[in-house]
Amino acid sequence: MEEGFNPFRIAQRQLDEAASALGLDAATHELLRWPMHEIKVTLPVRMDDGSIRIFHAFRVQYNTARGPAKGGIRWHPQETIDTVRALAAWMTWKTAVVDIPLGGGKGGVVCNPKELSETEKERLARAYIRALARSVGGARDVPAPDVYTTPQIMAWMMDEYETIVGESHPGVITGKPVALGGSQGRGDATARGGVYVTREAAAAHDIDLTGGTMAVMGFGNAGQNAALLGEEILGLRLIAASDSKGGVLNPGGIDTRALIEFKRKTGMLRGFPGAEPISNEDLLEQEVAVLFPAALENVITRENAPRIRCRICCELANGPTTPEADEILAEKGIIVLPDFLANAGGVTVSYFEQVQNAYNLYWELQEVHWRLDKKMTRAFASVLEMSRRSRIGLRQAAYLVAVARVAEACKLRGWV
Ligand code: NAD
Repeated sequence: MEEGFNPFRIAQRQLDEAASALGLDAATHELLRWPMHEIKVTLPVRMDDGSIRIFHAFRVQYNTARGPAKGGIRWHPQETIDTVRALAAWMTWKTAVVDIPLGGGKGGVVCNPKELSETEKERLARAYIRALARSVGGARDVPAPDVYTTPQIMAWMMDEYETIVGESHPGVITGKPVALGGSQGRGDATARGGVYVTREAAAAHDIDLTGGTMAVMGFGNAGQNAALLGEEILGLRLIAASDSKGGVLNPGGIDTRALIEFKRKTGMLRGFPGAEPISNEDLLEQEVAVLFPAALENVITRENAPRIRCRICCELANGPTTPEADEILAEKGIIVLPDFLANAGGVTVSYFEQVQNAYNLYWELQEVHWRLDKKMTRAFASVLEMSRRSRIGLRQAAYLVAVARVAEACKLRGWV
């Protein structure tokens, strides 16, 4: 993998900058540059045709000073240990910035789930958790769904784990179906967290969003819920949305529910009545109050950043803005809500799921929303305070808040 594109090197560079700004001592800095524990397993799995296929898989427990590791399991053909390491590092900063008592972890299986039948997926899910059963658990490391893994896959993994330990342990994994101990409100938690943070950012900058407009790139889970909640909570009007097949624009406003229904029926947004087609590139450049990038990484670049015209950019996707673009948006006075803060609502409700599993007592939806609002509002307040005090952007401030919290936990434990 080319040095410049190795995500783990990028994660290390980001940490280096935060460590230097915080004046971290050399030992703490070096400790936080590396995963504390990584596991590589090789999984023989029987295919439907009777043959055995060997899968390579990883679990990285990056840092557990603040609590058990937490992070999703990705099933992806191009999975590498360095991608998993980087994502585990970012989970460490994400759980710290929202101040939940968890560390950071991530897992990956090198596979193409589109080529696997349901029964093969089940055997792979069970094989993965069997191989890792001694390393995961509510007090060690709690996996969750991620790219190409689903609540059903979490259910199989939980069942396999409970079979091995011979007890009920729903909190071993989150993102489970609600019928098996999943939390109310997990479905829209990522978008909801982002919308709460957007509300706080607007208030802090005296921006009145009511009656303003929004555009959503990536009309999937996070994007659709951002449009619904942007309307409900912020009073915004959707004017443009896109997915991998292209987008639609209506400057007069788009009926979000009707668009969701249209996409459900036709599998695309193009052709939605009353709206004109728009490319993903043009969508990003619409003049809107709030832009929600909710699809891919590296879509706002040095090239198009000068033409971005939103007031607030709420990064629901991971890494949508390149570092060069970030500087350009800052010069233009655009408020960028950094990904690991803006999309932390998902892991926060996953943590609520663990808490409910531990108590064997389940909360109403309103209670989940109320608790999520409190967490996100507080997280934004600490990041804003750091940003104003140190005269730095929100992204760097979020790093400083998160890294300082993890460093403090490592010191209090006497590790460094
Ligand atoms: P999803 O698969 O439900 O939706 C992704 C959407 O993006 C789809 O509609 C897809 O068509 C669209 N898309 C793909 N390529 C595109 C392109 N080139 N241009 C425009 N749209 C494109 O995924 P999701 O769960 O909504 O996640 C979206 C982003 O949010 C990802 O970056 C993910 O890592 C991040 N995220 C999600 C969660 C969560 O809880 N869902 C949590 C944290 C971060």
